[in-house]
Amino acid sequence: AKAAGRNTYRFFCPSMQEVLDQMAMLENDLRHALVRRELRLHYQPIVRADGSLAGVEALMRWQHPQRGMVYPAAFIGQAEKAGLIVEFGQWALTTACEQLAAWAGDAQTAHLTIAVNVSARQFRQPDFAQCVLDILERTGANPRRLKLELTESMLLTDVDTLITRMAMLKETGLGFSLDDFGTGYSSLSYLKKLPLDQLKIDRSFVQDMLQTPHAWSIVQTIVNLARGLGLDVVAEGVETSEQWAALRRLGCAGFQGYLFGKPMPLEELRMGVTLAAPG
Ligand code: C2E
Ligand code: CA
Ligand code: CA
Ligand code: CA
Repeated sequence: AKAAGRNTYRFFCPSMQEVLDQMAMLENDLRHALVRRELRLHYQPIVRADGSLAGVEALMRWQHPQRGMVYPAAFIGQAEKAGLIVEFGQWALTTACEQLAAWAGDAQTAHLTIAVNVSARQFRQPDFAQCVLDILERTGANPRRLKLELTESMLLTDVDTLITRMAMLKETGLGFSLDDFGTGYSSLSYLKKLPLDQLKIDRSFVQDMLQTPHAWSIVQTIVNLARGLGLDVVAEGVETSEQWAALRRLGCAGFQGYLFGKPMPLEELRMGVTLAAPG
């Protein structure tokens, strides 16, 4: 770093300063991403035990003019901090609902669901429920094909408000999924209070389940817990057919991971695809 001004102190080494400059630049670009139409949704397949396509999860990407494709790890956190995540989330929800409406006309796609990630900050907006209702009405999407993925960080909100809001939205027919289950603040007492439809087993458990007995029993416990509570369960991050077979044996019914497909642009999704299930 050059000599700082007389009354300023530099607490950072040059490389740290560079990182900060980069971040400021990124945030500035991020503010324009929406109007410049640089956000994209990629879709990752979610399959049933027989390998047939049940639906997709919509995952956000940022097509940056210079940097190319930017992944959520590099911008979602900043979008949260800058308060942009609310608008970004609404854009994602709208785009996904438009897609559902487009799929409704075709017998091959009409049954497919789309899961959309909702950040805690977005869900906490007082007008969140109204926004969702407006989007559903505007796009004509069938709410029964829509899943909203919440994370356990949501539980830091006042739980009564959370339940009221969820219950109101559920009247439309949409479903709620608890994402990354087992990694957050989950309290089992909340689990039976919240009007959920699905638990998603975090990738970290699936990744280790065949190596470490610990991870195996966590996966087994989540599957049994879901069943006991009458919830669907989807395993994330399934990468090998051995993992898929083991999960099926445990009674898991929904699967997502590179084994079935990475998140991809709509044009690359193959709707009819059915994978042969392993023994
Ligand atoms: P997530 O909701 O847990 O999404 C699953 C992530 O795991 C995705 O990363 C996906 O590409 C990755 N993944 C799926 N299968 C596999 C696998 O078999 N192996 C490995 N190694 N990874 C797999 P991605 O797309 O980078 O998204 C990261 C996170 O960013 C998401 O985690 C979600 O928390 C957040 N995110 C993405 N889109 C949105 C959005 O529209 N709104 C909000 N609020 N958050 C989003
Ligand atoms: Ca998710
Ligand atoms: Ca997840
Ligand atoms: Ca995750």
